[in-house]
Amino acid sequence: GTAQIGVTGLAVMGANLARNLARNGYTVALHNRSVGKTDELLAKHGDDGDFVRTESLQELVDSLESPRRILIMVKAGAPVDSVIESLIPLLDRDDIIIDGGNSYFKDTIRREKECAEHGLHFVGVGVSGGEEGALNGPSIMPGGSEQSYESVGPMLEKIAAKADDGTPCCAWIDTDGAGHFVKMVHNGIEYADMQVIGEAYDLLRSVAGIEPAEQAEVFRRWNETDLSSYLIEITAEVLSQVDEKTGKPLVDVIVDQAGQKGTGRWTVQSALDLGSPVSGIAESVFARALSSSEPEAREQAQEKLTSGLIASTGVAHADPEFVEDVRRALYASKLVSYAQGLDMLGSAGKEFGWDLKLDTIASLWRAGCIIRAELLGEIMDAYQGDDAPVNMLLAPGFLEVVEELVPSWRRVVVKATALGIPVPVFASSLSYYDALRRKRLPAALIQGQRDFFGAHTYHRVDEEGTFHTLWSEDRSEVRTDGEIA
Ligand code: NDP
Repeated sequence: GTAQIGVTGLAVMGANLARNLARNGYTVALHNRSVGKTDELLAKHGDDGDFVRTESLQELVDSLESPRRILIMVKAGAPVDSVIESLIPLLDRDDIIIDGGNSYFKDTIRREKECAEHGLHFVGVGVSGGEEGALNGPSIMPGGSEQSYESVGPMLEKIAAKADDGTPCCAWIDTDGAGHFVKMVHNGIEYADMQVIGEAYDLLRSVAGIEPAEQAEVFRRWNETDLSSYLIEITAEVLSQVDEKTGKPLVDVIVDQAGQKGTGRWTVQSALDLGSPVSGIAESVFARALSSSEPEAREQAQEKLTSGLIASTGVAHADPEFVEDVRRALYASKLVSYAQGLDMLGSAGKEFGWDLKLDTIASLWRAGCIIRAELLGEIMDAYQGDDAPVNMLLAPGFLEVVEELVPSWRRVVVKATALGIPVPVFASSLSYYDALRRKRLPAALIQGQRDFFGAHTYHRVDEEGTFHTLWSEDRSEVRTDGEIA
């Protein structure tokens, strides 16, 4: 065979990645379970580059130069296993299977082991950027062995988005599931990013009376500030859209129940396992869940749970001071989400034995992906060099910025609370900030309680060792052996 790479699974993502590869000069063999998608792609975009049409996996394998590279872009989950199973007997030693779907990182770890048993390389690759990114340059987060990256890396770097400084938004992350893990956390941050924008929108509308069309202008202005990002940009687009049927703002005719496909939930589940406090990301996943579950409960609550609200907002229409406060609160909350996501990557690196380079990861998110933002360049700078901050908020570049944002942030959370406007991520992020900077946390009391009911022991602030109070005896303190239970 002569094709340099094969793609199986030609729905939107696979088709667009195949076209992107072909446009970059690679000969791409095409395969899809049902041949209709293959023919449709060839009919519409066959002149994008050199394609080889195949009808079966055997034909796909035969069409490829050796060692083979096959990119799987089928539906995540069981279909990926089924395609791998079908491919294994057809492939030769050192061939490379690449999974570019949104696979769960633990599946990727398992699949790599299985493929290795057959002498095959398996590369789990996180791809972000949606349809448009896949075609014109996504952000790409590859895992797998370093050796296989030598073979697939140059191709992936070629089709990846390029940051403003020209570097490709693709770099080897680390072994096995590291690429998919980083993509998962990217999506978790994306959930939080979207939720904080939603909270800002709600506040601007409910408190300052700014209707969607006018808000689109606010978001366009914000996109010229340090908030500049893809998600702020598209927010302005969505808010300015008028519904053809009713003449109302489109956002007012869309049902307010947010969907999710699972990567945000995985992020939070993994964070719970790691003991990583991604409270903003978790709140954003829960906010979607609350919006879409129990419509009955929301309906009843609107009538019955109405006490204790302050009647007047005390804010004039589009009051510029309030609008600026909201902008600052949004930026501060966003910083916290990134700080939490990066902190989680640090914990995962320790747990799974990955050397995750946070400056590189931030650099990959600068273009092509959904969370691309000016901020990512600054995060990249913050983690470059030898003395990386223990928390992003403590990086010299961010310390002063956050200090400046805090007064606005507090005013906005207070106002929202008084008026009964839900701001789960604004508020929880502020609590995270306050907990982080707190000299003494009430966790000391929790340790006391744990020791009381379960003899879980505690450390003292003034003495080495592990201690227990004899609560049910004379309440004297004893020193115990070993670690805190
Ligand atoms: P889908 O997830 O909708 O999957 C459809 C494709 O999977 C079709 O080609 C289908 O073949 C194939 N397929 C399904 N089941 C099987 C099976 N058992 N055996 C073989 N082929 C099967 O496609 P997308 O392009 O939306 O997404 C592909 C991957 O990329 C997913 O993992 C997704 O999560 C991920 N992704 C998607 C993004 C997006 O914006 N859509 C963004 C980033 C990642 P057939 O035509 O024969 O039915």
